[in-house]
Amino acid sequence: MRYISTRGDAPILEFGDVLLEGLASDGGLYVPVELPAISANDLADFVELEYHEVAARVLAPFVAPSLSVDELAELTLDAYSTFTHPDVVPTSRLAAGEHLVELFRGPTLSFKDVALALLGRLFEHELARRSTTMTIVGATSGDTGSAAIDACRDREGIELVMLHPAGRVTEIQRRQMTTVDSPNIHNVAIDGTFDDCQDLVKALFGDRPLRERMRLGAVNSINWARVAAQTVYYVTTAVKLGAPERAVSFCVPTGNFGNVLAGDVARRMGVPIDRLVVATNHNDILARTHRTGDMAISEVRPSTSPAMDIGVSSNFERLLFELGGRRGAALAADMAHFRAEASLALAPDVLAGLRAGFDAGSASEDEVAATIAAVDETDGRLIDPHTAVALTVARRDAPAGGWTTPIAVMSTAHPAKFGEAVVEATGRQPELPPSLAALADRDEYLTALPNDLATLRDFVIARCTP
Ligand SMILES: *Cc1c(COP(=O)(O)O)cnc(C)c1O
Repeated sequence: MRYISTRGDAPILEFGDVLLEGLASDGGLYVPVELPAISANDLADFVELEYHEVAARVLAPFVAPSLSVDELAELTLDAYSTFTHPDVVPTSRLAAGEHLVELFRGPTLSFKDVALALLGRLFEHELARRSTTMTIVGATSGDTGSAAIDACRDREGIELVMLHPAGRVTEIQRRQMTTVDSPNIHNVAIDGTFDDCQDLVKALFGDRPLRERMRLGAVNSINWARVAAQTVYYVTTAVKLGAPERAVSFCVPTGNFGNVLAGDVARRMGVPIDRLVVATNHNDILARTHRTGDMAISEVRPSTSPAMDIGVSSNFERLLFELGGRRGAALAADMAHFRAEASLALAPDVLAGLRAGFDAGSASEDEVAATIAAVDETDGRLIDPHTAVALTVARRDAPAGGWTTPIAVMSTAHPAKFGEAVVEATGRQPELPPSLAALADRDEYLTALPNDLATLRDFVIARCTP
């Protein structure tokens, strides 16, 4: 598969390059030149297969010729053996026609594991193939950091430096990162905010000599390999709920638009997906864009679903590229306008395309708490606030007479990861799974640094020079 940039002015690359480079040189995002097809026969075959086997089948066209089918199958087997449920991504029924898709059965208990577990192994494989090494630098406000650390720990050729804002992640999130005792994992607590951490990472990448010398790389959510890996659970869930004969709709708690974009990709590949519902918390740029046609930035306010506290959804650009007829130069001009003005009016055909394929809604903090309490009351079951955002929207915004297909609500985190909000809503403390309970007694490995680029730069060179 070859990949082009959404802004039309970057070299056409193969999978291995797209994997390692992340962002395109023109500031755009890489997308495949064309999507492979999944036929009704394929879907019927998948009924019999394990998750890692479906993953290998679905992803093979995206990674060829950088990886052979057998090489890929080895990596998907290894990646998904780290999940605690035999289905990897199980579904459970909440009410008639309403299902939860449990994306949190991976090693760090959030949906980030599904993509990152595979990404770490893909990186290791590609670096070995090129006989080279890489220093991955990232900033996290929580879930991505622990999933990336788990995915990269002890992998050949990779050093990982993960920045988090000191005192501004939950204790569980911090311990998930800092209790990993691996020589290639370097946790840094920055005396500052998450934005300060992101600015430091950007500044490191902006230092060209350093970037080349240390071969800096990223694992951020715009990496196409992450989107591709996420298409797999749309396929397996659709198959469980009746595909190819019957269509399914999904409601997705959304921040950077990576998860729900993967659903759109699966639908374009031929999976019978009817509606894709974008659910946001009160940081609702996507819901407002869908309603008004104007994509306008507003201030980010903290919520109980912090993984969705974003001002701009970076992966939305990929959908705009498709809906606008894949015209890179035009999209580059639009994105320049958006950057300058902090708003962009969608063209009428783009807005019509968005509404044709997607619904969107936002949930208030009160609604989220009420939904967590309601599910506890009717099912005796605790759900996390991100999941509750999606379930709120799926229930409140159902068409008159209900969804015409089964509605699958993406459950993106284990409730124990966001225990405070769950206790607040229900008075009950979610039980810590054994992997989290054990964290309290382990030693922590982290370095506290000031919010200072030169100090961080010295640290990266000292720790990560091959
Ligand atoms: C990252 C994350 C999301 C948002 O996913 P996007 O792909 O950014 O839309 C939702 N819930 C949880 C728990 C997450 O970690």
